[in-house]
Amino acid sequence: MKMKIVILSRGPQLYSTQSLLRAGMRRGHQIRIIDHVLCDFMIEKGQMSVYHNGFLIDQPDAIIPRIGSSVTAKGAAVISQFEAMNRITTVRSMALLQARDKLRSLQKLASCGIGIPATAYLNDTENIRTIIDRLGGLPVVIKLLESTHGIGVILAESFKSAESTVEAFQKLKERVIIQEFIEEAKGADIRALVVAGEVVAAMKRQAQAGEFRSNLHRGASSTPVKLTAQEKEVVLRSTKIMGLDIAGVDILRSSRGPLIMEINASPGLEGIETTTRIDVSSKIIHYLEKRFRFQQDQIKSNKIR
Ligand code: ADP
Repeated sequence: MKMKIVILSRGPQLYSTQSLLRAGMRRGHQIRIIDHVLCDFMIEKGQMSVYHNGFLIDQPDAIIPRIGSSVTAKGAAVISQFEAMNRITTVRSMALLQARDKLRSLQKLASCGIGIPATAYLNDTENIRTIIDRLGGLPVVIKLLESTHGIGVILAESFKSAESTVEAFQKLKERVIIQEFIEEAKGADIRALVVAGEVVAAMKRQAQAGEFRSNLHRGASSTPVKLTAQEKEVVLRSTKIMGLDIAGVDILRSSRGPLIMEINASPGLEGIETTTRIDVSSKIIHYLEKRFRFQQDQIKSNKIR
């Protein structure tokens, strides 16, 4: 069954957008790339429509949002419009908004019994020593809540540096969290890619010598990795809690088992596809096809009844 698919992306040339485009075209679907920042929409009783650059767009059967963190709210509003039009989406707007709020995500995961690095959120630095002691002592990791690519993730080895770092960020009106440092991870983390309740690919990222952040953008190297049964279970449970069918889950291997660091609702595909040689994009397209078939069957059976 051929579909009309819209990829919401600000960068038609980006690896992930291109990879999804090719995977969809190989299956014979009609694919269009639309910049969500250029979308206007109309909300009327029984009639919803989306305009791109001033032109009414043909209603797609499904959308694949690739929303960057700088335009989350705008992107979520566009996804929500398509949801109101009953279109299939690889990520629901509410799930995207929730996953983008790192603090809320950690609160939700921890409250559901998922292991995370012990984390503190400080109002000011008055009680920072007590908090650091509660986290298990020095060193600690200080993170900007708005951090990406590891910029704004700092290792503080003394109370003084932790205090001045947090103070500096707070002065800049940036929200920060403090985390216990998982030393046993040895500068490595794991990225697991989940599609429709299955871990379809996983890689280990190892930081460069002298660096604890294993972001590929920070020069880390990556290799395919096989997850343990426990890691798989935690990854799938976490994505379920976050209401995500498709996600990139970052794990630290600690002495007390896998700890979830972050869940990405719009995971990049370049690192994972080139490292593992697994065609994740095609798996995403298959997932959409399955949901589309299910939706069409439901429409048919309702009509017959
Ligand atoms: P970003 O979202 O900016 O990539 P992350 O929270 O993913 O920030 O942190 C960047 C990297 O720093 C991680 O990939 C991991 O290697 C390392 N790191 C982050 N938190 C911890 C921690 N609590 N203990 C040990 N290493 C950490």
